[in-house]
Amino acid sequence: MSDLIVKEKRCAKCGTTKALSEFYRNAASSDGHRHQCKKCALAHVRDYQARKRSELGEEAWLEKGRTNVAMSRARGATQDKVQQAAWAYSNKRLREMYPKVWEQIYREERYARGLNVR
Ligand SMILES: [Zn+2]
Repeated sequence: MSDLIVKEKRCAKCGTTKALSEFYRNAASSDGHRHQCKKCALAHVRDYQARKRSELGEEAWLEKGRTNVAMSRARGATQDKVQQAAWAYSNKRLREMYPKVWEQIYREERYARGLNVR
């Protein structure tokens, strides 16, 4: 549509124009970024996960999370970073129960945000 290099993008959800760094990457998208900004993407996933969590119950939810992480690792951590991030934040208890699993997600989340991972 434009030959200019787009450095900003309008969020499809909240309608705010933000820097591309405020959007999670999405290789499947034409410009390599998601249509929703990070804030909206996280809010959306958190909503969804809160619903799922109450549907499944606490124990089943934690177990599902562990399975997701294990699968993600097996595939070379190609699982959706946004989902992982929101899931990690929504599972404070997981941090206490499975600190190593939590740390893995936390590191991936920081990586997804472009922060340095030590
Ligand atoms: Zn937004």
